[in-house]
Amino acid sequence: MRPSLLDPLFAPITSLDGVGERTARLIDNVVPADVTGRGARIGDLVFTLPHSVIDRRNRPGIALSPEGAIVTLEVRVDRHQPPPRGNRSVPYRVFAHDDTGEIGLTFFRGHREWLEKQLPVGEQVVISGRMEWFNGRPTMVHPDHIAVLGKDEDLPLVEPVYPLTAGLSGRTLRKAILQALTRLPPLPEWQDASVMKTHTFPAFADALGRIHNPADPIDVSPENAAWRRLAYDELLAGQVSLALVRARTRRLSGRPLEGDGALEQAIRDALPYSLTTSQQMALAEIHADMEKPERMLRLLQGDVGSGKTVVALLAMARAAEAGAQSALMAPTEILARQHHATIAPLAAKAGLKAAVLTGREKGRERAEVLEGLADGSIHIVVGTHALFQEGVEYHDLGLAIVDEQHRFGVHQRLAITAKGTAPDMLVMTATPIPRTLVLTAFGDMDVSRLTEKPAGRRPINTVTLPLDRLEDLVGRMQAAVAEGQKIYWICPLVEESDEIKLTSAEDRYASLKPVFGERVGLVHGRMKGAEKDEAMRSFKAGETRVLVATTVIEVGVDVPDATIIVIEHAERFGLAQLHQLRGRVGRGDKPSTCVLLYKAPLGETAHKRLSVMRETEDGFLISEEDLKLRGEGDLLGTKQSGTPGFQVARIEFHADLLEVARDDARLLLSRDPELVSERGEAVRLLLYLFGRDEAVRLLRAG
Ligand code: ADP
Ligand code: MG
Repeated sequence: MRPSLLDPLFAPITSLDGVGERTARLIDNVVPADVTGRGARIGDLVFTLPHSVIDRRNRPGIALSPEGAIVTLEVRVDRHQPPPRGNRSVPYRVFAHDDTGEIGLTFFRGHREWLEKQLPVGEQVVISGRMEWFNGRPTMVHPDHIAVLGKDEDLPLVEPVYPLTAGLSGRTLRKAILQALTRLPPLPEWQDASVMKTHTFPAFADALGRIHNPADPIDVSPENAAWRRLAYDELLAGQVSLALVRARTRRLSGRPLEGDGALEQAIRDALPYSLTTSQQMALAEIHADMEKPERMLRLLQGDVGSGKTVVALLAMARAAEAGAQSALMAPTEILARQHHATIAPLAAKAGLKAAVLTGREKGRERAEVLEGLADGSIHIVVGTHALFQEGVEYHDLGLAIVDEQHRFGVHQRLAITAKGTAPDMLVMTATPIPRTLVLTAFGDMDVSRLTEKPAGRRPINTVTLPLDRLEDLVGRMQAAVAEGQKIYWICPLVEESDEIKLTSAEDRYASLKPVFGERVGLVHGRMKGAEKDEAMRSFKAGETRVLVATTVIEVGVDVPDATIIVIEHAERFGLAQLHQLRGRVGRGDKPSTCVLLYKAPLGETAHKRLSVMRETEDGFLISEEDLKLRGEGDLLGTKQSGTPGFQVARIEFHADLLEVARDDARLLLSRDPELVSERGEAVRLLLYLFGRDEAVRLLRAG
């Protein structure tokens, strides 16, 4: 049950003055998404934070106000000049002065009565707005704020600017937010005193007050203590709720899986290579988890090609030593079959039987697999989500491995557990997200990382080149093709709305055709499936040697003997995407090259991105840099936005707090697992405030 103390914050926003149904629906579009979905409540409004401010503190006087500047002026009203009767195209003008000069205020379709009340002749008024010099005369068109001197205390000198939606004025939204703030009940402090002190956090209500009523532009910065306090509140709520769920899943289940290493050794002996150091470290961590009576929840991160599959196989061998079965789930049928083809012969060397189960297995074949799983004669099964569907019974499933490639999906993963069995869980991902993001994207899992490339891989030489050197480049590509190399030539996807003139894949193909003739091919998203397949086939077969492509070409595309990739307009791609594109070469044992072709001049952020690409191939390092540079600059297909699933925390600013929050949550729950202490009770309020209250239901005393 939600504590009644919080009721005012869960009232619908229509209970605010001046907010009717129509305005309420508009406000729904503005309050941070994901979290509500049920129509905004007053509490959501409180967490709708400004993204910037209009600084109105500049009071230079009329004559000294620069063109285009936002200024606040204290003036005496001299006279009104309404437009001639019946001529609405002439604006209403009001003239006023201060010690420095005269100003004309301009109102299109101004209402005479309203203006005479706002700007009474002979009175001192405060006005604020954008200064314009028109034919050498100072003017202000529709001042943003007008107040009679002495009644101007509501005029915001530092005015917060909120996200807006069509039909909703900033004024209406701000009024609603300020009203919502007054509904905030007095709340106990849920943060630990030492954390408050270390980070110089203000109290919760003070933090909100400072951001919504800033005295200085810095007050609305996500890096400022007020915002960080709220971000920390939200992160702590998230971490406490994850920790409660985790404690629950661990309590429910778990058993030690101990092996003698014999089967694993048999497979290792059969490998044509030795494991990299990071593979060995990951395995050691996995083994340690498996041996514990608690359930394993571990994430194995590694770039495509870093060798995750063999780690998975060796872990499955361990499980078999302990007498348990293992299942490996892949995102697609093709990948499931690929994994099975790799795994089955190696497993056989240790006398283990591996099977495949996808939606395609039917009739007798399927019946045989199901039988083998039920009687335990199949030790390892590889498949799609079909593995965990109804009707699939395991003799004794001890280890579930999920290969997620590039996808996320915590819910799907939890579904595996919901089947009653509670196997150890290993999630494999090629998404090189930073540790801090792992927490938000995957929940509180332990992490192992494969940071090295297997031996024998050659580094990719990455160079940058301005677009005006295109002719040189084409010449060098001709030479490369003559040597028998294969080249990807990537062009950005051109959106119809794109105002900047970019070369499309079709244009580039047309311009390369006279040079390369039949040896250049084209593939893009608008082509038919069969055409795409044919373009890929002839490139693979070597009939074409240059493949002009948009970024939509399949992630799984594998042409191991392609050695060059040219990325056109590289300045417009994000780091993660550049890294992923570059990963299409360097798959064989030949040296490879990546050419980042950019349009000069480069902006500062774009310059940094390209330097990062030149300096490193480490996907983790790149993802860390990506995080720092994200949201800056002008990237293709990325909208500036907050962190998904969060109202106030922004991972690019508050990543450091996430780790603190995790430790804080763990410590809190180790001392007070049922949240019944004074702080525990306050933290319960916090969970409700940020919509993490599902976790409260897991508490016995909840
Ligand atoms: P991932 O699943 O991480 O994308 P894979 O497991 O498919 O990578 O491995 C990619 C390739 O590298 C496979 O052909 C695999 O046999 C090979 N490989 C894995 N580990 C090593 C190693 N330690 N040394 C050499 N080659 C390796
Ligand atoms: Mg793989």
